[in-house]
Amino acid sequence: MPDTRRFEGPSDLHMHSIHSDGTESPAQVMAAAHRHGLRTAALTDHDTTSGWAEAAEAASSLGMTFLPGMELSARYEWRSVHVLAYLIDPDDADLRAMTDRIRSSRLERARTMADRIGEDFDLHWDDIVAQTSDGATVGRPHIADALVAKGLVRDRAEAFSQILSPRGDYYIALFAPDPVVAVELIVGAGGVPIIAHPAGRAGVLPTSLMERMFQAGLAGFELGHRENLDAGIRALRRMCQERDLIMTGSSDYHGLGKPNQPGENTTADEMVARIVQRATGSAPVYA
Ligand code: AMP
Ligand code: FE
Ligand code: FE
Ligand code: ZN
Repeated sequence: MPDTRRFEGPSDLHMHSIHSDGTESPAQVMAAAHRHGLRTAALTDHDTTSGWAEAAEAASSLGMTFLPGMELSARYEWRSVHVLAYLIDPDDADLRAMTDRIRSSRLERARTMADRIGEDFDLHWDDIVAQTSDGATVGRPHIADALVAKGLVRDRAEAFSQILSPRGDYYIALFAPDPVVAVELIVGAGGVPIIAHPAGRAGVLPTSLMERMFQAGLAGFELGHRENLDAGIRALRRMCQERDLIMTGSSDYHGLGKPNQPGENTTADEMVARIVQRATGSAPVYA
């Protein structure tokens, strides 16, 4: 049984680095977490675990506990669903095959979006490459950064509300697995699946889909997140209480890419301990 006293908070379990769409290295993300008074922090880059080693080392040198994570892309009909995957085995073959597929199709999709945007604006693929570190999971945020660098928009938020909007002419949907498959893959890799920002503007997922996700091993919800709306939080909190699910809260820090600050939402020690107890894929790196 893991020692729950190691998880004296505060804990922030959702942060991004330049290995996906954050603007800081994993070590800088851990330093930001430390500056904001956190004792436990997770790195949850989109569809990759490549930042773990650097983050673990930085966290250790700062006297923090590191919780390895990932934010797996999924898709239900037209909407994108993000599933946080804690303590997975990073070498699990099935999960790796899926993240490889998502990441390569993300690259192709970004290229096609860039081509479409390039027909109307002075933007070329090289501009996006210049905003993306080697091997990173590519996404619309990198296109946004290129648009900012070119002076075509003010910031990522403006890019997302205009040129990169799903309702706009340039948008292409992402390839991503069904949310039930995402949960199965995470569980198969020994990890703990938690739905990220589950009560955003798109509303909570249909009960029938969540039911199938529970059958597959969904462990809980990220209830503390600035994008969640009150009505959805209330409904999901009731569900968590009825079913004894894990509830987390986190910042979804992206460096300069979003206003979200480390520790603006945190996860209770008891919940962190439950995540660790449930996982078999990997272990936290303790302070
Ligand atoms: P993609 O997965 O490539 O479609 O891009 C979605 C990503 O963009 C998410 O992971 C968010 O972190 C980021 N994102 C979405 N909306 C915004 C926004 N308004 N400002 C900054 N980043 C955003
Ligand atoms: Fe992101
Ligand atoms: Fe997300
Ligand atoms: Zn995120």
